[in-house]
Amino acid sequence: MKEYLRQIPPIHELQKDARFEGVMETYSLNHQQATKFVQEEISTLRNLLLEGKLDISPADANFAALIFGGIEKKAGTWQEDRLKQVINGTGTVLHTNLGRARLSSRAVEHVVKSARNYSNLEYRISEGKRGSRHDIIEDLLKEATGAEAAMVVNNNAAAVFLVLSALAKHKEVIVSRGQLVEIGGSFRVSSIMEESGARLVEVGTTNKTHLFDYEKAFTEETAMIMKVHTSNFLMVGFTETVETEELVDLKNNHDGVVLYEDLGSGALYDFKKHGIGDEPLVREVIQSGVDIVSFSGDKLLGGPQAGIIAGKKAIIDQLKKHQLARVLRVDKLTFAALEETLKAYLSGEEAIMELPTVRDVVRPLESIKQQAEVFMKEMGGQTEGYSIELKESTSQIGGGTMPGVELPTYIAAVSHARYSAQELAEKLRSCRPAVIARIQDERVCIDFRTIDQDELPIVVESFMEIYRA
Ligand SMILES: *Cc1c(COP(=O)(O)O)cnc(C)c1O
Repeated sequence: MKEYLRQIPPIHELQKDARFEGVMETYSLNHQQATKFVQEEISTLRNLLLEGKLDISPADANFAALIFGGIEKKAGTWQEDRLKQVINGTGTVLHTNLGRARLSSRAVEHVVKSARNYSNLEYRISEGKRGSRHDIIEDLLKEATGAEAAMVVNNNAAAVFLVLSALAKHKEVIVSRGQLVEIGGSFRVSSIMEESGARLVEVGTTNKTHLFDYEKAFTEETAMIMKVHTSNFLMVGFTETVETEELVDLKNNHDGVVLYEDLGSGALYDFKKHGIGDEPLVREVIQSGVDIVSFSGDKLLGGPQAGIIAGKKAIIDQLKKHQLARVLRVDKLTFAALEETLKAYLSGEEAIMELPTVRDVVRPLESIKQQAEVFMKEMGGQTEGYSIELKESTSQIGGGTMPGVELPTYIAAVSHARYSAQELAEKLRSCRPAVIARIQDERVCIDFRTIDQDELPIVVESFMEIYRA
């Protein structure tokens, strides 16, 4: 093998090869990057030769061609997006692993414009003076929630942290045991509380908490009653929680105690009127007399990742002034996306349906079925090896919201003569964009709830590509 090593062309020679220029041009690489790829490919080839693992006989091999072939592949991979578009064929609208909410076209356009240009993020144009980013969309937040004041931080976990740190540090916060939740594996109410310096006072039991449990827990040190929306699980059977209205009455008997509700999702749209879940409207919670609430921007709201805090002006002002508000503040792109998302809620039903999250959650079964039928038609005939069945099924909302809510949907359950369901799903994932499906009863299932009209041809083409390969 050693004799073949000498036949590997040296770097300077490969750099003079026309294919070197070609690769640089095709993949927009500079000289240094391209040279690095050449070095790596030479070293790979050497190792293959030394280990006798080259899959053709070294006597027949064209080393330069092998090296440039390898570079092409490497450069292609390097150039690919790291944060990749995927097609969500799981039917789970707020898929935590797939980036949660998709933004509306209007929101995307406003993000692009704000990214490309200077803006009045912290500037009062009419006065020519410095302004505050907290003021940018506060009017929209107030209108959408009915609150006296509101602000935005990085996400809802940050909102919880800011509220506890600013209002209850070294003091006591009363929380029902049944609401000490963990969301998505990395957010625990008890841990955030500990980090914030607030002292957790657990009351009640896992399944039942009564008003008198809260009453008994009050001390001189009580700063807050915190209610946490049990977003991602259901409690059924012998259970009892205290209604928000009762906690409002209780709090009103204790001067200076803040009632805070972490709503999790925080719906601005009434999904209940479609018979979907029983998520409280942010407006209703505020009206019931809670001092402050917080919720996510990219769950049911269907906007960018953000944490929205809304409620009494005196409290929000205090939060805005806290050092942590600076630490947890959001970027102009978040404001841009949130602005257009909120405007949709304030512009009526038609505009709201332009928000992909809301639209997909309430998507009529008939529309899903139609799309599934188009898929069946497109796949028909030319696709030997596949066996496809159109089936009724259910999709979930996801993102730790509305647990137990099952939305009726249509899926295509696909099996392949040569591949197992796992193998077929893997092949779909290796398409570009990757198609993410769920596996059920040994079949690959595509749920059309989360697939847009313009994504459907991509899904069909992906199956065809696998068929042709
Ligand atoms: C999702 C959720 C959070 C965390 O919100 P993020 O925006 O993901 O940080 C906090 N509390 C509750 C109740 C939630 O459902």
